[in-house]
Amino acid sequence: MSSEFEQFDVVIIGAGPAGYVAAIRCAQLGLNTACIDKWLDEEQQPRLGGTCLNVGCIPSKALLESSHVYAQSSQHLSMHGIEASGLSLNLQQMMERKNKVVKTLTSGIEALFKSNKITWIQGEARIKNNQDLLNKQVIVHQHNKQSVKLKASSIIIATGSSPVNIPVAPVDNDSIVDSTGALSFSEVPQKLGIIGAGVIGLELGSVWSRLGSEVTIFEAQDNFLSIADTLIARESLKIYLKQGLDIQLNTRLLEAHTVDSENRKKTVQVNYQNQDGKQSAQFDKLIIAVGRSPNTSDLFEDETELEFDEGRFIHVNQHCETSLPGIYAIGDIVRGPMLAHKGSEEGLMVAERIAGKFREVNYDLIPSVIYTHPEIAWAGKTEQELKTAGIDYQIGTFPFVASGRAQAVGETSGMIKVLADARTDRILGVHILGNNASEIIAQAVIAMEMGASSEDIALSVFAHPTLSESFHEAALAVSGNALHIMQKRK
Ligand code: FAD
Ligand code: NAD
Repeated sequence: MSSEFEQFDVVIIGAGPAGYVAAIRCAQLGLNTACIDKWLDEEQQPRLGGTCLNVGCIPSKALLESSHVYAQSSQHLSMHGIEASGLSLNLQQMMERKNKVVKTLTSGIEALFKSNKITWIQGEARIKNNQDLLNKQVIVHQHNKQSVKLKASSIIIATGSSPVNIPVAPVDNDSIVDSTGALSFSEVPQKLGIIGAGVIGLELGSVWSRLGSEVTIFEAQDNFLSIADTLIARESLKIYLKQGLDIQLNTRLLEAHTVDSENRKKTVQVNYQNQDGKQSAQFDKLIIAVGRSPNTSDLFEDETELEFDEGRFIHVNQHCETSLPGIYAIGDIVRGPMLAHKGSEEGLMVAERIAGKFREVNYDLIPSVIYTHPEIAWAGKTEQELKTAGIDYQIGTFPFVASGRAQAVGETSGMIKVLADARTDRILGVHILGNNASEIIAQAVIAMEMGASSEDIALSVFAHPTLSESFHEAALAVSGNALHIMQKRK
C-alpha cells in the first residue's frame, strides 16, 4: 500500500441511491468527490447503484411488470373481448429483460459519475479512527488487491442494508433464498413458501403467484401490514387472499431445512406454529423476507467512536450528522424507513449542507408504496396514528368502483382515503389502494407539502376521466360533498 493519501473534499462510502445521489450533488456543487463501492455482479464486474438498482427496487419492479402482463394476458384479456390462445411463459427471456433493465440503469450511473468527474473507487472501504478533523482517513481494499488511502474533510457513510437471516432457517441460496435469490429462480416453483408478509413477501409473492406458483406466506404478527392505514390493510388482505396468496397470520416459524425427495429434487420442510399448534409444510423453494439490517460490520479499520442506535443503525440527527463532526450517515444505515427515495433525499440534504447551503428533509412526508396489484400507497399520518396522537380528524373516502376511468380500464378495486384536521381542514394523510396508486400519491405529497386543505383539493380542477379524479372526490367527501357516491351531507 502506498503511504501517500489521495485528498478529496468528500469521500462517500456506498453507491446505492443514497450514496450515488449524494456524490452527484456534491460534484455539481464543485466539491472534489470520491465514491467507493464494493459491489460485484455475477460476473465479478463492479457495479454502481447498490441494492436498489441491482437486487432491489428495479429488478423487482421489472418482474412485477412482466408477471402482471402475463397474468393480465392469461386471465383478463377475454373481459375486453380479446381471445388469445397458445400463451406461454419464457422465464429465461423474462429474467434477461430484467437483467437488461438493471444493466441499462447501472451503466447510466457510471456515465453520470464520469460526466460529473466523480472518482469511483472499486473496493471495500474502512474508516480510520483518527482525530484530525480536516483530514479524516479512509482505507480502501480494492478488488484489484491494491489498497488506497484517502483523506477528506467530510465522509458520508451510505453502506445500506442486507437481508436479515434467521438461524433456524439458514439461506443456502438454492432452496432457501433471500430476496436476491427470489429475483432469479430458473424455474417457477410449484409450491413457494415465504416467511414474512411485509413489503418483499407481498411483492415477490405476487410475482411468483402470477407466474403459476402456489404461494403460502407465514407472518408472525396477527396484525396484517401494521405500517399501513388499518382500513387499507384490511381491504388489501381480502384482495390478496382472493388472488390466491395464502397469507397465514399469527404464524411463527420454528425451523426450516431442505430434504432430498424421491425424484432427487430438494424440497424445503417448514415447521411452524399457529393457533392450532405445531404444523409442517413442504415447499419447492422458501423465501426469507423478515426485514433488513444495516451494513455496519467491517466498516471501521479500528474501534470506532461513532454512536449507534438500537439494531446497529448509525446514530444521526435530523441533518444526518453522526456523533463525530464531519462524518454523515444516510439511507438504510440510519433510522427511518428503508426506502430508496428517503436515502436519496438525505444524500441531497447532506451534500448541500456540506457545501454551505440550507436543506432539510421533511420526514413526515416520505411516501410508501407497495407495488402489488392493486398497489398500496400512502403519505402522512394513518388514522390509527391520529387517534393515538389525540388529533381530531375528518375522513373522506372514495371507492374506485365509482370512477369512470377505473370502470373503463376494468380495474375497480380499492379506494382513496383522505384524512384532514377537523379544525383547520389541513390534509394530514392520504391512503390509496388501487391501480396506479404509486403515481397518484405524488399529488397528495405535493398537496401536503404545500399545506393544502381538503377544500384546496376540492377547488382544484382534475382532468376527466382520470383515476386522479378520485383524489378530488375523496377530498370533497371530507366535507360530505362527494358527487359520484351517495353521502350524508356533513
Ligand atoms: P444500498 O442500496 O444498500 O447501497 C449500499 C451500497 O454500499 C452497496 O452498493 C454496497 O456494495 C456498498 N457498501 C457497503 N459497505 C461497503 C463498504 N464497506 N465499502 C464499500 N462499499 C460498501 N425501496 C424503494 O424505495 N422502493 C422500492 O420499490 C424498493 N424495492 C425493494 C425491493 C427489494 C427486493 C429490496 C431488497 C429492497 C427494495 N427497496 C425499495 C429498498 C431499497 O433498495 C433500499 O432502501 C435502498 O437501496 C437503500 O439505499 P442505500 O443507498 O442506503 O443502500
Ligand atoms: P418488512 O419489515 O417489510 O416485513 C417483514 C415481515 O416479516 C414483518 O411483517 C414481520 O412481522 C415478519 N416477520 C419477522 N420475523 C418473522 C418470523 N420469524 N416469522 C414470520 N414472520 C416474521 O421487511 P421486508 O419485506 O424484508 O423488506 C425489507 C425492507 O425493504 C422494508 O423495510 C422495506 O421498506 C424495503 N422494501 C421496500 C419496498 C417498496 O418500497 N416497495 C419493496 C421491498 C422492500
